[in-house]
Amino acid sequence: MDKFIYVDNAATTRLKPEVLDEMMPYLTEEYGNPSSIYKYANNSKIAIDCAREKIAKAFNAEPKEIIFTSGASEADNWAIKGIAYSLRKKGNHIITTKIEHHAVLHTTEFLEKQGYEVTYLDVDENGLISLEQLEAAITDKTILISVIFANNEIGTIQPIKEIGEIAKKHGIYFHTDAVQAVGNVEIDVKDMNIDLMSLTAHKVYGPKGVGALYVKKGVKLYPFIHGGGQEKGRRAGTENVAGIVGFGKAIELATTSIAEKVKKISELRDLYIDTVLKEIPYVRLNGHRTQRLCNNANVSFRYIEGEALLLMLDMAGICASSGSACTSGSLDPSHVLLAIGLPHEIAHGSLRISFGDFNTKDEVYYIVEKLKGIVSRLREMSPLYENVERK
Ligand SMILES: *Cc1c(COP(=O)(O)O)cnc(C)c1O
Repeated sequence: MDKFIYVDNAATTRLKPEVLDEMMPYLTEEYGNPSSIYKYANNSKIAIDCAREKIAKAFNAEPKEIIFTSGASEADNWAIKGIAYSLRKKGNHIITTKIEHHAVLHTTEFLEKQGYEVTYLDVDENGLISLEQLEAAITDKTILISVIFANNEIGTIQPIKEIGEIAKKHGIYFHTDAVQAVGNVEIDVKDMNIDLMSLTAHKVYGPKGVGALYVKKGVKLYPFIHGGGQEKGRRAGTENVAGIVGFGKAIELATTSIAEKVKKISELRDLYIDTVLKEIPYVRLNGHRTQRLCNNANVSFRYIEGEALLLMLDMAGICASSGSACTSGSLDPSHVLLAIGLPHEIAHGSLRISFGDFNTKDEVYYIVEKLKGIVSRLREMSPLYENVERK
């Protein structure tokens, strides 16, 4: 068989067989609509309640604080637009960061066109925001602070509990996109003072197209999808029963024995990072050295085009991701890499490897071997590199 190594787990993950097993009945014989009143449909309703309880428990939330959505993009949109519209009378100022996912950034840009004011906090060279800058940005018009829990490109984990404390002290709602943190970090919404939190199933070995917004009791949000009375009238649309069941199972698996998994996966990450930094010249690691996701390795190779690198890795059977937004049809380098201060030409030569539960050490050795060859071949073709070599 052809080589196939999947190290793009920050983009999506493989469905776990245990998750599929739990979903199967709801894709086959248990097709009742949870809103129907006959007994047959009751199983669908119970399955949803059970998933809701599992998810709530994983984050120390109450079941009624978990509202199912189509994923994290919807949850991010809803949290931000929802608070913005609900609190319009109180204020029009939102604080977020320069390194959010586009589901947040494009939402705040949309709100700016409607008269909202948005502060985009800087991050330092490791990708961390400054708590002082955050507190200084708060005005009497501030209604929401939205900070990504752990960054999807460079893996940096923010001081979420401290941010929650600042938000609470000033009586401002705190939203976090926790997609990448789930299963990597213990999350306790009460302890961390989180008011709203976006989640998705497909980044933790669950199905695509299902996620949730955690909304703390007492937080008033306009419904985002209008229609039927599902989710207590807060999110209309017939529930994705099988998806929700799979989501529940995936979260349960992802949040049990986190420490063990983190240990195993960070070993792969560190093996990869250490070998690449040691064996390939003109390389830098992006993101915080220690305050980072256990599965994330983002490095920049000077004198290299990230897209060429990805294509050659693909030919070697390796699925990875670059630091540029090229996949979305633009050639601009990643806003995250620019925010940590990388010049365009270095940001362009970036490679994100994100490990997962299915990866092995042998795969890491194979990736590094291939990378060494590919990087030196690409550099041989680069006129910039030729100049460096001559000096
Ligand atoms: C993948 C991702 C999203 C989008 O989630 P979907 O469920 O695919 O809409 C949002 N935020 C972060 C940080 C992500 O990594």
